[in-house]
Amino acid sequence: MKTLKIAIQKSGRLNEKSVELLKNCGLSFENYKSSLISPVSNFPLEILFLRDDDIPEYVQDGIADLGIVGENVIQETEVKVSYLQKLGFGKCSLKVAITNNSDIEQLSDLNGKSIATTYPVILGKFLQKNSIDADIRTISGSVEISPGLGLADAICDLVSTGGTLKSNGLKAFADVMSSEAVLIGRKGSENDILIQELIQRIQSVLRAKETKYVVLNAPSANLAEVLALLPGVKSPSVVPLAEEGWVAVHTVIPERDFWDRISQLKQAGAQGIVVMPIEKIIL
Ligand code: ATP
Ligand code: ZN
Repeated sequence: MKTLKIAIQKSGRLNEKSVELLKNCGLSFENYKSSLISPVSNFPLEILFLRDDDIPEYVQDGIADLGIVGENVIQETEVKVSYLQKLGFGKCSLKVAITNNSDIEQLSDLNGKSIATTYPVILGKFLQKNSIDADIRTISGSVEISPGLGLADAICDLVSTGGTLKSNGLKAFADVMSSEAVLIGRKGSENDILIQELIQRIQSVLRAKETKYVVLNAPSANLAEVLALLPGVKSPSVVPLAEEGWVAVHTVIPERDFWDRISQLKQAGAQGIVVMPIEKIIL
């Protein structure tokens, strides 16, 4: 039987979450920091640990069948791959940032300025789309210190919380793209049976992550009111309690809906509310 290969980041911001996702899919493998390749013992899959920048090309060229990488890296390397699934982690935005005391006020003020970045391809397209003629200075790292050193008037870099910008006297000025980790495959690979199975496992883990299993007790008299607040995957289960006139309601609910409704549930007489994590939801 054929063995698939999936490339994930060896170390860095996406490594831990990528490993966690694959483990949550029920895949069993060793995660030695020293190894470049790790076989999965209970699925025909091998995990390749690589620098994130190499992952899109490895997938395009068929050295790996699948990869987990930030959309920013895919766009920058301009490879032809299929986006199979957004993964909900590694969220960040590529932004143009300027110094706090900059005279740049609108996009057109970037004309004639220099912008330091490790993303020349994406920035180039952004500037072209906005008809801006600026000087792109491609550097390989520590972009945020370049305005302070007088190397550039602005930067274009990845931002998640904005803390790094702030501590370097910079402020976000324009959004270039937003990004998150995605599962990619070679063009056409979405038809492969093994890949489809892996995507289904990933989707069941992602669905479960957003959802909680909720159990609560409520007076039978208020059941209709409580149920109206709790849409289940299909329909909530209602179990009578030993105490006359009370029921337990079991349901599965998106976590954000739950927090919105908790005070209404209490008003409707719900008590002893237990919220539990779910491992997988298979539809
Ligand atoms: P490698 O050694 O694999 O080349 P790297 O230094 O290029 O690693 P990391 O800094 O680990 O990369 O970031 C990996 C990915 O994490 C980024 O490409 C991006 O998609 C995502 N990411 C999420 N938040 C941030 C952030 N605040 N800054 C940079 N990248 C972020
Ligand atoms: Zn990298």
